[in-house]
Parts: sequence; C-alpha cells; structure tokens
Amino acid sequence: MEKPKVIILLGPPASGKGTQAKILAKRINYKYFGTGDLLRSEVEKGSDLGKKFATAMESGGLIPDELTDPLIKAKLGELKDFGVVIDGFPRNLHQVATLKQVFPEENFLVLNIVLSADSVMERMLKRRICKKCGKIFIIEIGEEKFCDVCGGKLIQRADDNPQVLAKRIKTYGEQTKPLIDYYKNIGKLSDIDGEPPIPGVTRGIEKVI
Ligand code: ADP
Repeated sequence: MEKPKVIILLGPPASGKGTQAKILAKRINYKYFGTGDLLRSEVEKGSDLGKKFATAMESGGLIPDELTDPLIKAKLGELKDFGVVIDGFPRNLHQVATLKQVFPEENFLVLNIVLSADSVMERMLKRRICKKCGKIFIIEIGEEKFCDVCGGKLIQRADDNPQVLAKRIKTYGEQTKPLIDYYKNIGKLSDIDGEPPIPGVTRGIEKVI
C-alpha cells in the first residue's frame, strides 16, 4: 500500500495514543502533532486562553472548538506539506471537518487503539508525565521514579484523577467514539490491540503500515 500521508491515532484516554504516535513519527520520519501537548503548552504559558483551556481540561470535557480552532488551524497549516502522525485530534465531527480542509481524506490511515474499560481506568491512575520533557510513564502505585531521558520529576496530570477520569471516558464515548464509524465507513480504519505492553502495540501498528 502507498504510505498514507496522515496517520491518526484514535482511542480512549490513556490508551497509549501519545506514546505510540511519538514512536511511529520518529520511525517513519513524519511530523508528530498532538493536541494534548499543544494545548497544555498554552496552559503552561499562563495566558488568558491557557486558563480557559485548563478549566475545560480539568472538567474532563473537550475544550470548546471556538477556543482551540485558531491554534489548531495555524499548526495544521504549518504541517500541510509533510507526512504527519496525529494524536488526540480529531476528537469530534467539527474537528473531522477542520482536518479535511487541510488534508484530503484519501491519504488517511486511522489506527483505532482498542482497550478495555478496566485497562483504561488502571492506566489513567498509574500514568505519570515528566515535568521537564513530557515523556509518559506508567508506574506502580507508590513507586518513586524519575525520567529515564532527562532525570526530570514525574508528576500526575491534573486531569488523571478519579473525579475527572469518569467524565473523560464519558466525553470520549459521546464525542470521539462516533469517529470510529465515520472513518470505518470511508474505509480508512484499522483496529490495533492496545492491551499488550508498549513494544507489542508498536508491532501491531507496524504490521498495518
Ligand atoms: P488523553 O488522550 O489521555 O485524553 P490528551 O493529552 O490527548 O489526553 O488530552 C487531554 C485533554 O486535553 C482532553 O481531556 C481535553 O480536555 C483536551 N484536548 C486535547 N485534545 C483536544 C482537542 N482536539 N479538542 C478539544 N480538547 C482537547
């Protein structure tokens, strides 16, 4: 198969999309585009917009499209001439349309990472992120660990806690899950088993690509 120009990773929160998207982009020499990281970097700037993003993120809902559109469209514009691996976008049908305006869908491959509800829950509670470089780790509860890349401190994301977790799963079910059918219907979707450890999922992705 001709290599798709746009590879989208779809899946529930904490399914490993971010980890796999970064591995894949590096391996095939594509640009990585993750809305989670992009939007969190705005939060870190402490701008008014960032404060609004934080409120939405910590509620477990999506950030309203009218707030994210300018940032996301600008970034997509920069990427339009490259091969790109996308993580965390699109997340609703409005975003499907936004993406389609920049990249023709015949060049898409959508990898749907499939993970049970129990595994989603467990991973969300064990997920830590390096404060310095953003690398993602799954730790054992109570374990003290530092980043193996830069030695940075591992912290829990504000939205990875049991209160926000249920809402994020609900948001995914209501707004993002329908995209599975959308991309399936246009013949662009492949399911990937998200249950194995990281290298196993990577192998599953490589088989499809
Ligand atoms: P996860 O995939 O584990 O949910 P992300 O880092 O991709 O984590 O996203 C964290 C939060 O950022 C989401 O719950 C949502 O509030 C916000 N977010 C990320 N991407 C988008 C997007 N494309 N549109 C709206 N909100 C988004």
